[in-house]
Amino acid sequence: MAKRDYYEVLGVGRDAGEAEIKKAYRKLALKYHPDRNPGDKEAEEKFKEAAEAYEVLRDEEKRRIYDRFGHEGLEGSGFRGFSGFEDIFSSFGDIFEDFFGFGRRRDRGPRPMRGNSLRYDVELSLEEAFTGREKEIVFHRLENCARCEGTGLAPGSSPRTCPTCQGRGQVIRSQGFFQISSTCPTCHGQGQVITDPCPECRGQGQVEAEKRLTVKIPAGVDTGSQLRLRGEGEPGAYGGPPGDLFVVIHVREHELFTREGEDLYCNLPISFVQAALGDTLEIPVLGDEQTHTLEIPPGTQPGDMLRVPGKGMPSLRSHQRRGDLFLRAVVKIPRKMNQRQRELLEAFAQEEGLNVSGGKKKETFWKKMTKF
Ligand SMILES: [Zn+2]
Ligand SMILES: [Zn+2]
Repeated sequence: MAKRDYYEVLGVGRDAGEAEIKKAYRKLALKYHPDRNPGDKEAEEKFKEAAEAYEVLRDEEKRRIYDRFGHEGLEGSGFRGFSGFEDIFSSFGDIFEDFFGFGRRRDRGPRPMRGNSLRYDVELSLEEAFTGREKEIVFHRLENCARCEGTGLAPGSSPRTCPTCQGRGQVIRSQGFFQISSTCPTCHGQGQVITDPCPECRGQGQVEAEKRLTVKIPAGVDTGSQLRLRGEGEPGAYGGPPGDLFVVIHVREHELFTREGEDLYCNLPISFVQAALGDTLEIPVLGDEQTHTLEIPPGTQPGDMLRVPGKGMPSLRSHQRRGDLFLRAVVKIPRKMNQRQRELLEAFAQEEGLNVSGGKKKETFWKKMTKF
């Protein structure tokens, strides 16, 4: 899709000043903010589009490149836009703060940081995936240090204002006309430093701990299914929320059944007599019933698929529904026969009008074909 012109996106003239651009962007950001338009894809796109336009037009360097060379010029200079909301909020968070009445941007004090999310892989048999189960998982994660309650401070001490940035978290240096601000290298943007660290966690505020959790795995999961356990990841810092734990499912191969979505497939070995005459068989199925009575119709051909409705895997979305079971007829031809069986088959061949040599006469396939 072709990108819209950034001035058009923000609804400002090409000579618009900094204040006008900011004002225009705020208006759009407010209108299309995801909190006000939950689940609205179009608003989401508009929100991202406006953020990208603002990101470029508020920056003199990027705006200059855009004015001269357009979107392609920016891409050539390495501009990528935003990957998602988090990206936008971490870039323009201050705009939303005074906009939504969260008060003014904190100039001092550490910023809350969200904890890391973790991944745990679980292997299940097909039977377990069929019934669902509870599984205890044991893993290691960082937890807040009990001694300092996650602050990283030695008992009785308090953090100092960062001497490099005087608590602003940013350092500003001048370059010609411009002032460039960047994250403070001493406190990494937190504005505070710990001079007297907690001896238990060495000032980290967090220690590694073993965690046990019982995970409820629903019936119908497949390889690649993910369960998200909110807040079971690592703790956040400076009042930030904890990360999540993602449990990723792997279903082992089954000796009988292969799976495609909610359907199961299985080979059904039958003799050529069963295929020709038809038969009734007990076949294995997953679930409480364990077996199912299957009618093989007379004249079944090798490779024919026999469908048993509702005997596949349970649906993850609807617990009432199950997929189907498909049985692929694998017709077995006897390798050895006794005298009586041979005579019966020869009689059958005669009935068919076939002159079968039975391997006694040497006649090539091609000769036989010419006769035919
Ligand atoms: Zn600092
Ligand atoms: Zn500690």
